[in-house]
Amino acid sequence: MHPFSYVAPKTIDEAVAVLEKNGTRARPFAGGTDLLVQARANKWDLDTVVDIKKIPETMSLEVSQEGLTIGSGVPCYQVYNNEQIKKEYPGIVDGALIIGGIQIQSRATIGGNLCNAAPSGDSICPLIVYNAVAHISGPSGSREVAVEDFCTGPGSTVLQNGELLVKIVVPKPNAGSGTAYQRFTPRNEMDIAVAGVAVSVQLNNNGDDFESVRIALAAVGPTPILANKAGSSLSGKPINDDSISEAASLAKEEASPISDMRGTIEQRKHLIEIITTRMIKEAVKRARG
Ligand SMILES: Cc1cc2nc3c(=O)[nH]c(=O)nc-3n(C[C@H](O)[C@H](O)[C@H](O)COP(=O)(O)OP(=O)(O)OC[C@H]3O[C@@H](n4cnc5c(N)ncnc54)[C@H](O)[C@@H]3O)c2cc1C
Repeated sequence: MHPFSYVAPKTIDEAVAVLEKNGTRARPFAGGTDLLVQARANKWDLDTVVDIKKIPETMSLEVSQEGLTIGSGVPCYQVYNNEQIKKEYPGIVDGALIIGGIQIQSRATIGGNLCNAAPSGDSICPLIVYNAVAHISGPSGSREVAVEDFCTGPGSTVLQNGELLVKIVVPKPNAGSGTAYQRFTPRNEMDIAVAGVAVSVQLNNNGDDFESVRIALAAVGPTPILANKAGSSLSGKPINDDSISEAASLAKEEASPISDMRGTIEQRKHLIEIITTRMIKEAVKRARG
């Protein structure tokens, strides 16, 4: 790793200008828990890191009637310690709470987790099932991208040269909805997911049928996967073991994992079926309060 400059712009425009000028030789720096490890391993040939944490918009964390805004520089511990977020967005907390240990969580951000685009990124599937939207600024202005479309491959995203993720906006959940995320790792901390599942359910007024369901799968494909067939199989169905088991089996089919040192294809598919079952039940429990 060769020496690089550190810049800490105070506005989005300044940050975008540095990123655009330096192209692939500059990268945004949020918590640095991925970036510095990767720079040391020579994944990036960096001239400049652009610290985004002096920009007010990236540091905002706000719960309003419209939803939850998570600035891209906000560390995980601030997210999972926020009482309103715990109450209204438990699926976001499920993800933020297991990213590394406490030291990592004091620096690591949800924005960095998303931009790093690891298929195992623990905050990404919860964001997907909540229908979260990434707000991006760049040389040609601002744009919004649904989080489910943000990651394009392992480590790659829709971000173009000079673009910066400013914030993630999570719409306010409706009454009668519930969300949960869980991953499997051989160790509780300091390990990435072998497989993970986020589920968000919207129940009918009586609370005994599914109205709509979103299911997203982690670490079982080149990107986090929105399991559309599994989720839509539950629309209008009664909440019972048969409907849940059918959805879990479809999620298993929609997973397309590889075998590596963390797990085999068979093990990962098996885990997806089990965790999907658990997370649908947990999301229903949360929806019913
Ligand atoms: C010991 C250890 C344990 C870990 N455990 C887990 C785990 O359990 N689960 C998990 O999911 N991850 C884990 N990680 C990975 C990492 O901590 C997370 O991915 C974290 O959320 C990254 O956030 P960050 O703020 O540190 O990102 P950074 O390292 O600052 O950035 C990550 C990438 O995103 C880019 N980037 C950052 N912010 C922006 C932005 N606003 N706009 C555009 N691009 C941006 C950077 O240039 C870089 O390429 C672990 C890492 C370590 C070192």
